[in-house]
Amino acid sequence: MTDIVYRYNNQVYFNITNKCPCKCTFCIRNTEDSVGEAENLWFEKEPTLEEIEAAIDAFDFHGCEEVVFCGYGEPTMALDKLIAVSAYVREKYPLRIRLNTNGLSDLIHKRSTAEEICKAVDCVSISLNMPDAASYCEVVHPAFGEKSFDAMLNFAKDCKKYLSDVRFTVVDVIGEENVKKSQALADSLGIPLRVRVYTP
Ligand code: SF4
Repeated sequence: MTDIVYRYNNQVYFNITNKCPCKCTFCIRNTEDSVGEAENLWFEKEPTLEEIEAAIDAFDFHGCEEVVFCGYGEPTMALDKLIAVSAYVREKYPLRIRLNTNGLSDLIHKRSTAEEICKAVDCVSISLNMPDAASYCEVVHPAFGEKSFDAMLNFAKDCKKYLSDVRFTVVDVIGEENVKKSQALADSLGIPLRVRVYTP
């Protein structure tokens, strides 16, 4: 059975799709089948909206203030479900909603998507990964090629128009120099950067 809702480090996550247009070198999907209290995050079949809502209703959210769209796939690949699930959570539960994303939603859907996403959630956390297009592509291997880096930055800038809580993240394994450059890039866009400790 695949976990749709799971807890990891006292945080609750929604795993709504296994689809992703990237092949990040450090993606946890390369080495593990699950994270935290989840047993398996790989779907045999992508979950329906009804299945996601049922999993949410069956989950014990005690001690939880925020839920995060982040699983074994890119949540914006299932954009309609993401928006519908957010509306469902807002209606039924007093929880803050964060989206962890690779920021490539505009390329995935071939249109601007920041406004609808930002209306649906309270925080957007975007994987910056690297401070320039060439090194970004070496790490992320996006299906859309080098234009992905600028598309991700534009998505972040667009999100800032609609939401105050927009963040970038990088993992510390990219090295001090790349972290410094990422910080400078994030500062130039007025978006806070969080440096995550890499846990394989
Ligand atoms: S974008 Fe996320 S889910 Fe997709 S390959 Fe990269 S780390 Fe994995």
